[in-house]
Amino acid sequence: MKVDGHTHTELCPHGSGDHLEAMVERAIELGFTDYWVTEHAPLPVNFSDAFGGPLDDIQTASLRIDQVDDYLELANQIKERFAAQIKVHIGFELDYLAGFEADRRHFWDHYGPQVDGGILSVHYLPGRDGRYYGVDYSPEELEQGFGELITQPQELYRYYFSQLQRAVNCDLGPNAPKRLGHLTLIKKYQDRFGLDTDFDATTWQAIERLLAQMVADDWEIDFNTAGLFKADCNDFYPGWEIAARAKELGLPLVFGSDAHATVEVGHAYHLFEKFSQKV
Ligand SMILES: [Zn+2]
Ligand SMILES: [Zn+2]
Repeated sequence: MKVDGHTHTELCPHGSGDHLEAMVERAIELGFTDYWVTEHAPLPVNFSDAFGGPLDDIQTASLRIDQVDDYLELANQIKERFAAQIKVHIGFELDYLAGFEADRRHFWDHYGPQVDGGILSVHYLPGRDGRYYGVDYSPEELEQGFGELITQPQELYRYYFSQLQRAVNCDLGPNAPKRLGHLTLIKKYQDRFGLDTDFDATTWQAIERLLAQMVADDWEIDFNTAGLFKADCNDFYPGWEIAARAKELGLPLVFGSDAHATVEVGHAYHLFEKFSQKV
């Protein structure tokens, strides 16, 4: 089995526009046996009322609700067309948003049964003034929302992990996503802000709590290589130490390129392969 477990499509508004068809062909070329299409599920319709960052962020973050059926149709077509060469799995990357649990569950109640599974990710969390800010869109937005915490990176990390803990504890229903996306996305701009490379003992306690909960509830981890290619991150998510600890605990790690372009499919798979063999 060679799996790319996290990829996007031409319908992603912040993607390259590259077509799913070309991306799947690339995966076949690279010898992948399994390919997960996991487009960003729509944010709640009223999320903009609670959001404090630049509107362009949430306007380009995900599918619109009226695109979801087009997405499912596209993914199903490609799944059938390439069925003899590769197993295409259809899913969503669903945002966990603290305080919007009912909305998230509502989405999944409706669309979860139509897909093979999903990834639950935290891209937005409450920041300064109680409004939500993204940790992914730009360093300026990260600073706008979490400026005070940036000067105390361990606090920033612990705050992000506390949101992940809530995500894992949130009951989204029987067919809910059980893979946690890019656990250390909060480090996306680490080299811009000079954030700590390592986690201190207190932060590790939070990580251990999170991993223990994930083990107990049968979660998987997104071994996400996208951060390696981000100018201010230069590491994969969740990083070597957490990945090694997760493996020790028996948590399954699923390779995910998080490709938004054909050239990104399978990016740094060899790192994952080596990790899997040596750790
Ligand atoms: Zn994306
Ligand atoms: Zn993501």
